[in-house]
Amino acid sequence: MDIAVIGSNMVDLITYTNQMPKAGETLEAPDFAIGCGGKGANQAVAAARLGAKVMMVSKVGEDLFAENTVNNLQRAGVDTRHVTVAAGTSSGVAPIFVDDQSQNRILIIKGANNHLSAADIDAAADELKACKLLVLQLEVPLPVVYYAIDFANQHGIPVILNPAPAVAGLDIDYACRCDFFMPNETELEILTGLPVVTEEDVLRAGQKLLGHGLKNLIITLGSRGSLWMQGDHCHSVAATPVKAVDTSGAGDAFIGCFAHYLVQDGDIPRAMALASAFAACSVTGRGTQRSYPDMDTFQRFLN
Ligand code: ATP
Repeated sequence: MDIAVIGSNMVDLITYTNQMPKAGETLEAPDFAIGCGGKGANQAVAAARLGAKVMMVSKVGEDLFAENTVNNLQRAGVDTRHVTVAAGTSSGVAPIFVDDQSQNRILIIKGANNHLSAADIDAAADELKACKLLVLQLEVPLPVVYYAIDFANQHGIPVILNPAPAVAGLDIDYACRCDFFMPNETELEILTGLPVVTEEDVLRAGQKLLGHGLKNLIITLGSRGSLWMQGDHCHSVAATPVKAVDTSGAGDAFIGCFAHYLVQDGDIPRAMALASAFAACSVTGRGTQRSYPDMDTFQRFLN
């Protein structure tokens, strides 16, 4: 295996409507769709679409969504031997309400994702030890994230930590034990308590985080691109100009693609440039995982 993603999977339950029911009211909505999501699964699928050998350690519920989630990961080429059922739980689901202005209202029920445990990492230990990179986010319990970082450190496996969604009380010492810490603007703002509006703000907040002793900080900045900070060194990558249709899941696309190219040769600027292009390509299509290109489509986009 090249990459192990230890993290979440979710089922997006998307209702398209301009009207939300009041208490006690029933309304008919014009349209509905189901999509596969969850930050962990999105990142695993993004890397696998590009041909990376990816395994996931994740929990599904004891319900109808579980099989669909596992099948979806397998179709993308993700190894699901360690995607297991948490008995008596629901799968992670995200009821999403989208109006005709493309405004989203999202609820997240983590369900089985809250039941991922250190025992699941132990059960996958042999396969994990053979991986070249571990990718983590914060949609599973924090103690499991910390256990995974301890595990990776013990076995000399590089780690990417995407601190999303921002969680109050993230132990920054653990972040410093990861090789790459990759927040977006909002997460940077919450983690530092500083405003992140202008370029100077980004640099100031980034320096504050780096001051804790982070090895590499890569901040994704939406249509403003991305920034790598390491000590006093800064490297910025402009976003690839595209007509954005739906930016949901762009951050996960970036991280999955970055992970794929990082394990190939460790060239950080190249991995960022390609991740930026991959994420830009993804925002030209609707949905999260369904907008991630495979290698052929990505190559055509690059040319
Ligand atoms: P999400 O939470 O929806 O996954 P995010 O907020 O974590 O997204 P962003 O920082 O918005 O992630 O985007 C990640 C990367 O995707 C950016 O650094 C950029 O390279 C690319 N990107 C995002 N939006 C655009 C856009 N409108 N045009 C081109 N590239 C974009």
